[in-house]
Amino acid sequence: MFGLIGHSTSFEEARSKARSLGFEEYADGDLDMWCSAPPQLVERVSVTSPTGQTIEGAYIDSVFVPEMLRRFKTAKRKVIKAMELAQKSGIDITALGGFTSIIFEDFNLLKEERVSATALDWQRFTTGNTHTAWVICRQVVENAPKLGIDLASAKVAVVGASGDIGSACCRWLQRSGVGELLLVARRPQPLIDLQASLGSGRILALEDALAEANVVVWVASLPQGLSIDASRLPKPCLMVDGGYPKNLDNKVVSDDVHVIKGGIVEFWQDIGWQMMEVADMAKPQRQMFACFAEAMILDFEARHTNFSWGRNNISLESMDWVGEASLRHGFRALGLELAPPPIPGTVLSAV
Ligand code: NDP
Repeated sequence: MFGLIGHSTSFEEARSKARSLGFEEYADGDLDMWCSAPPQLVERVSVTSPTGQTIEGAYIDSVFVPEMLRRFKTAKRKVIKAMELAQKSGIDITALGGFTSIIFEDFNLLKEERVSATALDWQRFTTGNTHTAWVICRQVVENAPKLGIDLASAKVAVVGASGDIGSACCRWLQRSGVGELLLVARRPQPLIDLQASLGSGRILALEDALAEANVVVWVASLPQGLSIDASRLPKPCLMVDGGYPKNLDNKVVSDDVHVIKGGIVEFWQDIGWQMMEVADMAKPQRQMFACFAEAMILDFEARHTNFSWGRNNISLESMDWVGEASLRHGFRALGLELAPPPIPGTVLSAV
């Protein structure tokens, strides 16, 4: 059985969801009340792979909202309590979605092994970052050529290069032979270490990298979407926005700057669940975060282990494995939907 731990994207959205479910007390409650609310197992689903195999899963709402990020103790408790509920519900492998994996790593929750009487079994949890990194790389290699970008000579900037997902993307993209990697983050030392381990890559400030990059992979945890001056970017430019919340605002899109929602996959058929309705997916019945899909893939493959765990441990072998399993079980990375070229001989008129 697989599990997904998630949360609402904002306090306002969480309250309106509570109202729609008939929880008036929560809908009217203030943030303090929400801080003390326990996690909820809100949905159970069955999912069938194209192989014919069916697995059962559950969605746990941690009742965390991003407005709680500054309340460190609350944020920690929300994640740990949701994990405890997943374990007590008998779930074999659970993905930590949204901010929950970042809270887990940043606050070093590995130290918090015991919740009340429950000893947490880390083998039952995965950050889902290996699959997320693989999906983002796949989005680069599948979509850059559609824009006429030759990856063998392209400059690919990775914003958040020293992070867990970013460093994995750098290793994978380097192996696939991209022209040059541009490494971006705030702290220099982790970038210098990454550059040394890659044996290549150029460390640049964000603005300098954007002025050169043909492809930009966004995998930073930015507090709010960045506004970018599209006129300074090389054209065409492909941007894969893999952060959560999304790193870019919509304003960056211009004629020759194309943004893909990064780290999102589409399943081969509708699932019949409600949980993605709040996540701003174009097709919430079959689209989901790649980290959630990792828990499903691990369950399909009966690999009940903390496959993605800790920081900067993602290997190329584990990315290759999860990528093959992802395709086998009917997941597809979201791509560009470009308008078809005009049929020769037709006249385009401005209406
Ligand atoms: P990490 O915390 O491991 O890495 C974050 C990286 O971003 C670091 O390199 C950090 O370096 C850099 N960074 C942070 N702030 C800035 C900034 N203002 N400007 C430039 N660089 C910055 O995170 P993960 O690798 O685990 O996750 C990366 C992103 O992917 C997150 O937003 C996460 O929510 C998202 N994600 C998406 C998933 C999906 O399914 N689609 C699944 C899992 C994660 P430094 O601190 O030195 O700046």
